[in-house]
Amino acid sequence: DRDFGHPVCVAIHVAGDGASLPLASGRDDTWFDHDGQITKRPIRALTLSALAPRAGQHLWDIGGGSGSVAIEWLMSDPSLRATSIEPRPDRADRIAANAARLGMDRLHVVTGHAPAVLRDLDRPDAVFIGGGLSDPLLDWLGTHLPPGTRIVANAVTLESEAMLTQTHIRLGGDLLRIEMAVATPIGSRRGWKASYPITQWSHVL
Ligand code: SAH
Repeated sequence: DRDFGHPVCVAIHVAGDGASLPLASGRDDTWFDHDGQITKRPIRALTLSALAPRAGQHLWDIGGGSGSVAIEWLMSDPSLRATSIEPRPDRADRIAANAARLGMDRLHVVTGHAPAVLRDLDRPDAVFIGGGLSDPLLDWLGTHLPPGTRIVANAVTLESEAMLTQTHIRLGGDLLRIEMAVATPIGSRRGWKASYPITQWSHVL
């Protein structure tokens, strides 16, 4: 029901009760078809803020999932470019479909594992790691990308968080811990339902 087809149409609020696409990053998750693996709206807003797109820049979205991060990067400005890297073919197809439906079909989708497939790609100005975080990946980025490249990585598990806290000791940058809770019913009352905390590492090479 949100098939706007043409990119020019997405930002226009059509008279009536049709949905209109907000202009700020951190759009509702329902804009993106997903299988549960999606960076949730508030975390995505903070992630796009940390990625800090500037005119003409290129993003690598490693662990594309639904493509939501790369798609919101592209929505920030028509001059921006993005490449999503995702090993699961079903998710790669979903990323391309989400991008096309939201008028962002300039998104480049690469099916494969990072860091193996990165070698052949156009160099980025910013890199988001939403999946596939590993020491070999961090080492690869550190050796192959030029100074000034921004890296943002989100971790949910203790294992990936440990990797980021170690990397923070080694390379510096910023660590941000994001804890969120939403009000949900407890019987006739309400309580705060917490999400897993997210650790976000941001660094400029
Ligand atoms: N940011 C995404 C969600 C990421 S979920 C969104 O908003 O939709 C993490 C993804 O990382 C999964 O789809 C998983 O298949 C992918 N992944 C796992 N290992 C990877 C690797 N080595 N390289 C690239 N992607 C990887």
